[in-house]
Amino acid sequence: MSGIGKVAVIGAGVMGAGIAAQVANAGVPVVLLDIVKEGAASRSAIAEGAVAALLKADPAPFMSRAAAKLVATGNIEDDLGLLADCDWIVEAVVERLDVKQALYRKIEGVRKAGSVVSSNTSTIPLASLISGLPETFARDFCITHFFNPPRYMRLLEVVKGELTRPEAIALVSRFADAALGKSVITPKDRPGFIANRLGVFWIQCAVIEAIEQGLEVEEADAVIGKPMGIPKTGVFGLIDLVGLDLMPHVMDSMIGLLPPEDPLHAIHRPQPLIERMIADGYTGRKGKGGFYRLN
Ligand code: NAD
Repeated sequence: MSGIGKVAVIGAGVMGAGIAAQVANAGVPVVLLDIVKEGAASRSAIAEGAVAALLKADPAPFMSRAAAKLVATGNIEDDLGLLADCDWIVEAVVERLDVKQALYRKIEGVRKAGSVVSSNTSTIPLASLISGLPETFARDFCITHFFNPPRYMRLLEVVKGELTRPEAIALVSRFADAALGKSVITPKDRPGFIANRLGVFWIQCAVIEAIEQGLEVEEADAVIGKPMGIPKTGVFGLIDLVGLDLMPHVMDSMIGLLPPEDPLHAIHRPQPLIERMIADGYTGRKGKGGFYRLN
């Protein structure tokens, strides 16, 4: 149906483990690799631990016991050979260009011809990821940007580079749609792709408007929560949920990514009110509360 019979996910962290679980839940065998943890009893401890955690996740396990049997765990030093018969290799390691590129060179040495390699990066441009890598790699490479948590977030951004074969994009898009139930969009290779450009932009607009107009958070969320598609928490409840302390990092990262002439640049400025709340311990649900009081 999909043309993808086996998948590898490299990086068994928050995103990689979740992606691997979703693929296994769809009945497709997965190889999940991570680095070797110093002093760990097993050389596959990180990937094994991730699978165990997904089975135990509460309130809902992220993976069925039957699906877990489809996941082969290993490490990137000893088990690279496991990639040889994979049709799609998803890289979900730390957000560092040097680490990702070193990994791509290893993958290029073992993957089968025509297999697709993709990165789950949220911020690194595709052009930088493939810079200095062979053209054979670039032709089979794209970005597949899953959202957190992959099991529940239906959107998948698939970004193609100048050299990417259209068949590679078609292969992963078809699989993501048919097997993983994703809505696939294909943004351009620009900072924030589409989802973070729009998502972060309107969250920031909501914060600025509410502060400048002196709105109560309930008033602001009545207008910009439910109607904008976040019915449960509203915008301000969402900020409480992810943590107010994340906001300055997100803004810094967007400012760093967006060139000054980009119309979105100016809107991503730090908000003194949020900085004061963070300093006072009002970091959201993990702190003393945030825009909303803790129940
Ligand atoms: P994480 O820190 O939870 O996991 C990263 C994993 O990669 C760790 O287990 C680490 O041991 C492993 N790793 C590091 N170097 C490696 C190597 N050379 N080989 C194999 N494994 C290696 O990170 P995460 O939050 O899962 O993010 C992974 C990627 O997904 C990043 O590119 C990030 O930008 C992107 N992303 C994250 C989110 C999110 O909400 N966390 C959302 C979308 C995209």
